[in-house]
Amino acid sequence: MYDTIIIGGGPAGVSAGVYAARKKMKTLFVTENFGGQSTVSTDIGNWIGHVSISGLELAKSLEAHLKAQEDIEVREGEAAKQVTKLDAGFQVKTTKGVYETKTVIVCVGARHRQLNVPGEQEFSSRGVAYCSTCDAPLFRGRAMAVIGGGNSGLEAVADLLPYASEIHLLNYTDKIKGDPTTLEKIQASDKFKGVIYNAETLEIIGDKTVTGLKYKDRQSGEEKILPVQGVFVEIGAVPNSELVKGLVELNSYGEIVLDHRTAATSVPGIFAAGDVTDEAFKQNNISAGDGVKAALSAYQYLQGK
Ligand SMILES: Cc1cc2nc3c(=O)[nH]c(=O)nc-3n(C[C@H](O)[C@H](O)[C@H](O)COP(=O)(O)OP(=O)(O)OC[C@H]3O[C@@H](n4cnc5c(N)ncnc54)[C@H](O)[C@@H]3O)c2cc1C
Repeated sequence: MYDTIIIGGGPAGVSAGVYAARKKMKTLFVTENFGGQSTVSTDIGNWIGHVSISGLELAKSLEAHLKAQEDIEVREGEAAKQVTKLDAGFQVKTTKGVYETKTVIVCVGARHRQLNVPGEQEFSSRGVAYCSTCDAPLFRGRAMAVIGGGNSGLEAVADLLPYASEIHLLNYTDKIKGDPTTLEKIQASDKFKGVIYNAETLEIIGDKTVTGLKYKDRQSGEEKILPVQGVFVEIGAVPNSELVKGLVELNSYGEIVLDHRTAATSVPGIFAAGDVTDEAFKQNNISAGDGVKAALSAYQYLQGK
């Protein structure tokens, strides 16, 4: 039986792993891959200690730091499917095995939220995309729509500016949530055709690839078609909390509810950190800090404190 099983190789999980190793906890580390969501970023300017680092470099350094720890068993390319409670401790079922442990630290992060409108699935990878840092160059010379006025939507516009012929930003409400400085930066470009406020996306239209986007003006009720050849969906994230659903308390967004002083979940012995939780700010540094807290709390739990 392990002292702890850490699930997830992003900043939260790796931090938890490094601290668990320093406390000499018998640790199994299960992750599909290393680095987490910002691996796709070309330039991360707020990872403390680095003026600038690419997502790929960050992923490599996280992996190297974790693997430099002695006595930590790493299972990469393995996905945890379900955590269940035993009389003493927990069982973690993965795609490759079943393991028993005294504590679990859940650091599985989040994934892109989808629109769930007609055409989205059909044209996925044929004009509908979710990662501007990865896919912006594929849309050279095309008219584009970006859906979502948060930071990721604004950054998607910025990523597209060097490539697209024109870009429209659709925002569900009458206010942009993203940073005013990023908005000002993109507004300075002639290619940015402005924000369409109160826009509810109804359908992605196309034949072989995307040819347009149908949306409703939520104030007037009028339905309109925007002729574009590509759509980036940037409407937030869904926590990957399915593996503990029905076991620990989740909020209405599916985020794991935490005691933020200790990173404890509603079930004693299960801890969590990072974007899968109800932490208000979804950031690399915060996830890393929360991972530390979760590992130290798991250690104290094992000590009976
Ligand atoms: C495009 C983009 C750019 C960003 N840029 C920045 C930035 O510049 N600065 C910043 O501070 N934040 C940025 N963020 C936010 C930041 O990436 C997240 O806050 C951070 O990655 C969360 O870390 P995490 O460890 O909680 O989860 P994640 O990064 O989501 O990592 C989760 C890990 O768990 C693994 N995993 C998932 N499910 C399972 C499973 N069932 N079994 C095993 N393993 C699993 C995944 O493979 C992954 O390794 C960005 C996010 C995105 C999407």
